[in-house]
Amino acid sequence: MVIMKEIKNLTLTELTDEIKALGEASYRAKQIYEWLHVKLARDFDDMSNISVALRNKLKENFEFTKLTTVRVSESKIDSTKKFLFETKDGNYIESVWMQYHHGNSVCISSQIGCRMGCRFCASTIDGLVRSLSAAEMLEQVYEITRITGERVSNVVVMGMGEPMDNYDNLVKFVKLLTCPEGLNISARNVTVSTCGIVPKIKELAEENLPITLALSLHAPNDEKRKELMPIANSYSISECLEACDYYFEKTKRRVSFEYSLVAGVNDNDEEAEELSALLRGHNGHVNLIPVNPIKERDFKRSDKTRIYAFQNKLEKNGINVTIRREMGRDIDGACGQLRRRHNEEARGLDSDKGCI
Ligand code: SAH
Repeated sequence: MVIMKEIKNLTLTELTDEIKALGEASYRAKQIYEWLHVKLARDFDDMSNISVALRNKLKENFEFTKLTTVRVSESKIDSTKKFLFETKDGNYIESVWMQYHHGNSVCISSQIGCRMGCRFCASTIDGLVRSLSAAEMLEQVYEITRITGERVSNVVVMGMGEPMDNYDNLVKFVKLLTCPEGLNISARNVTVSTCGIVPKIKELAEENLPITLALSLHAPNDEKRKELMPIANSYSISECLEACDYYFEKTKRRVSFEYSLVAGVNDNDEEAEELSALLRGHNGHVNLIPVNPIKERDFKRSDKTRIYAFQNKLEKNGINVTIRREMGRDIDGACGQLRRRHNEEARGLDSDKGCI
C-alpha cells in the first residue's frame, strides 16, 4: 500500500515542489496553501478556483486530514468549550476553546495518550497510542475556528500528550501555524508545555521560534518530583532549569513554571520557601494550578486558604506568581478526562464526571 503524504503537513516551499513535480505552475501551490491554511477548506472540492482535473490529481496524491467532531461540551460557568474529536483511525483527542479578554485561546493535544506517567494526569493512564501529525494538531485549531466562526489568537500545547515526545511534528506544527501565508498566529502567542525533556528544550531553543515554554515542575526538589513524575528519574530539576535558562538566553522569552498544588503533597510553607529559593535568579514566573482530582487517583486539591498562602510566600520572596484561572470546571477540563470518559462509556463502563 502506498502511504500518501498529508497535504496539510507540507510547508509552502514543500507544497510548491510537490505541485511543480505534478507538472503544475507554482502559483497553484500558493492558491492551494491558502485554501488549506487561510480559508480552511474542508475538502479538495472546496477549492473553487482550482480545476477539477487538478483537484483530482491532488486527491490521487495526497491525504486530506480531517477530524470528526464527536462531542462539544459548553461550560455554564464561563464560555469554555471542550471538543472531542475522532481521528481517521478511530482514536479520540480533546481540545479546549477558551475566551479571554485578550482573545480566544485553544488548548490542543499533541499525542493520543501519553507515556510520561505523571501520577495526577488522566492522559497517561492507558499509555501512548500514537503521536499526532502536524496536520492533526493544526486541524484541532482549524476545526474549532470553523465551528465557532471566531479567530483564534493564542494556542497552547497543553492538552493530551508530551509535545517534546513528538518533537519533529511539533516544530512543523508551530511553523505552519505561525506562517505568514497561513493562519499567521504570532509565535509569541504560542505556548508549549513540557514535563522536562532536557535535550529537546535545548533543541527548541535553537529553532529560532520565539514561542513560550512552560515547564511542568510540580515539586521544589527532585525527591518529591520523582514521586509525581517519572521523567524526574531521567533529568534533575537543576538540569531542567539550566535548559530553561538556555531557552531564555536564546529566545528572550520568560519561561513559565507550572506547579499543580496537591493537598498534603507539595503545598506546605516549607515547600513554598524551597521553591522560592530554587527559582530565584531564573527568568520566569510560577503558574499555580489547583490539581484537578481524577477518579483513578487519590489526589486532592489544596483548599483556597492554602493556595493563597502558598502564593503569598512566593510573592514575599520576590517570585512572580499567578494562580491559573480555571476554565470549564464543569466540563471535564483536565487533560485526558473527556477522552477517558468517552472511551469508558463506549466500553459500557460506569464513569464519574471528572472535574477541573
Ligand atoms: N506533557 C506536557 C503537557 C501536559 S498538560 C507537560 O507535562 O507539561 C499541561 C499541564 O497540566 C502540565 O503541567 C501537567 O502536569 C498538568 N496536569 C495534568 N493533569 C493535571 C491535573 N489532573 N491537575 C492539574 N494539573 C494537571
